[in-house]
Amino acid sequence: MSSQNDIVSYNKKSVTDIPMAGKKVLLRCDFNVPMDDAGNITDESRITASLPTIKYLIEQGAAIIACSHFGRPDGEFKADFSLAPVAVNLSGHLGQSVKMAKDVIGPDATKLAAELKAGEVMLLENTRFHKEEEANDPEFSKKLADMADVYVSDAFGSVHRAHSSTEGVAKFLPAVSGFLLKSELDNLGKAIAEPIRPFVSILGGSKVSDKLGVIKNLMKKADVILIGGGMAYTFFKAQGGSIGTSLCEDSQLEAVLEMEKEAKERGVKLLLPKDTVTASEFSNDTEPVVYAAGEIPDNMMGLDIGPITIEEFKAEIAKAGTIVWNGPMGVFEFPKYAEGTRAVANAMADSDAVTVIGGGDSAAAVRQYGLEEKITHISTGGGASLEFLEGKVLPGIACLLDA
Ligand code: AMP
Repeated sequence: MSSQNDIVSYNKKSVTDIPMAGKKVLLRCDFNVPMDDAGNITDESRITASLPTIKYLIEQGAAIIACSHFGRPDGEFKADFSLAPVAVNLSGHLGQSVKMAKDVIGPDATKLAAELKAGEVMLLENTRFHKEEEANDPEFSKKLADMADVYVSDAFGSVHRAHSSTEGVAKFLPAVSGFLLKSELDNLGKAIAEPIRPFVSILGGSKVSDKLGVIKNLMKKADVILIGGGMAYTFFKAQGGSIGTSLCEDSQLEAVLEMEKEAKERGVKLLLPKDTVTASEFSNDTEPVVYAAGEIPDNMMGLDIGPITIEEFKAEIAKAGTIVWNGPMGVFEFPKYAEGTRAVANAMADSDAVTVIGGGDSAAAVRQYGLEEKITHISTGGGASLEFLEGKVLPGIACLLDA
């Protein structure tokens, strides 16, 4: 693995690299699912995403002790944050009963774990019922680890956090990735570390301060960087343009100029929008008006990239060998201002390049347009994929055994 703030490439052992038969496996999943007030799971995709690894472990004859955090119970037992509904849902998918522990490292969990047989699955209670989880407390980690022989991490969405169940346990057990995490490393990781050129990065979203680290890091590898979304207006203002009431982070004016300078020095083509679709207020009930970027009247705000920019971005996407996209091109939640985001999504879907969506809102957009089957890889992590793209060392991956 290379160092902090570089292009990080991980080569880690996975669930198929070590024998699992007869082993008790502590499996860290991401079961932080959306639930309504009545405790109904409203989107089970995080549960279904865990099935390949669980089924493989069952087939191999392992006994599976699954665990996850769920919401923010602030380190104490709160019934509203129980993972019990997940155990019921998971049982349905597996066609076998998943035993729900009443606690995390307490007498019920340890007894169930000790009695668990090959091919059986149990689920620990919400790891965040203990404040020691987020503190990455070694004693708590050891108690979790003591229930098992092997640790398998399949919670990509949590690997940027050094918590007990994502990192601490790996100090006490042989630790490998599950299939979901492996797929993130193989796709997201490889696309950045060994891109087929030209490598085009597309960055959007609201705040430039959230993405500066990503732009800075991708600049080391990318041939082209396309900037859209709310963060483009900070660039225009820094260049002396008029941005009306568009989103702007005044604290970042110098940083974005520095970014443009660095791109020039590195020979990276950094493209900002040439035109922008504006509205008189932040609402879909407005009449979209197109202006040249940097020439927005005082009373208007930019909510999407304009038609000239769309064509220019499409042309770059069409030439690409690898495309990594994070952040919408505009306020895609408003249909009148979704054209830029939709056009980028469609262009990626039509491309023969390796196409990777770095989680969050761009992943939501691609799903909304029904294009997910046409994308090489859609990352399951929001914060984790951003930190991955930033080149930060992710503790939940770094702690796994090297291949
Ligand atoms: P982020 O979480 O930083 O990736 O930002 C995603 C959000 O940025 C989405 O909810 C978009 O509506 C918002 N966004 C994108 N472009 C703009 C814009 N021009 N003005 C305001 N918000 C925007």
